[in-house]
Amino acid sequence: MTNQRRLVVASRNKHKVAEIRDMLQGLPFEVVSVSDLGDFPEVVEDGDTFADNARKKAVQVMRWTHELVVADDSGLEVDALDGAPGVHSARFAALDGGHASDAANNAKLLELLADVPPERRGAQFRCVIALAAPDGTVDFAEGICRGQIGFAPQGEHGFGYDPLFIVPEFGQTFAELPPEVKNRISHRAKAVEGLKALLRRYEKPAN
Ligand code: IMP
Repeated sequence: MTNQRRLVVASRNKHKVAEIRDMLQGLPFEVVSVSDLGDFPEVVEDGDTFADNARKKAVQVMRWTHELVVADDSGLEVDALDGAPGVHSARFAALDGGHASDAANNAKLLELLADVPPERRGAQFRCVIALAAPDGTVDFAEGICRGQIGFAPQGEHGFGYDPLFIVPEFGQTFAELPPEVKNRISHRAKAVEGLKALLRRYEKPAN
């Protein structure tokens, strides 16, 4: 019998799932993506906060799988844009509320910040993780990573706004830093530290 309990990640974003799986390595959980479990209908992310959306994703998938489910809702908050794009990060450049590519989102951000000088280009990534258990309990963990928005995309790693997000301590963007460095210092890494504490309660396989 395996000592591992399954932990379902309520995301179709392969990058997010891979990052979370890497960060939870060594813990007694088998991390699987909801996409590997069948055709789960897409959750509408219409909450006003990251926590609202994370809870919605985690609870809907938990009701479908009856397993322990983790959902991450995250995004970029730019100081000069009063915290935008925030919860709208994934669809920032979409005209009709539909899909927007990472490249289009990055281009829109650069355009909005075209006249903003380096000292006012501060920003942060925020990640809220919700953990939903089959008994209905929902817990949260949050992480923030501060940085600066560059003037042009740099680097090939990662996803989303990574090529524009410069981490001051390294003078490089998330997309230039090796993934293992990003996964140590990112907003998601910090939220996952909190998640690890929450998971202790569930380390035994469910009967
Ligand atoms: P979500 O899937 O609704 O949480 O949307 C998250 C969006 O925020 C992504 O599509 C990215 O645009 C952005 N984002 C969140 N985390 C990261 C990250 O680690 N790097 C770059 N962009 C991120």
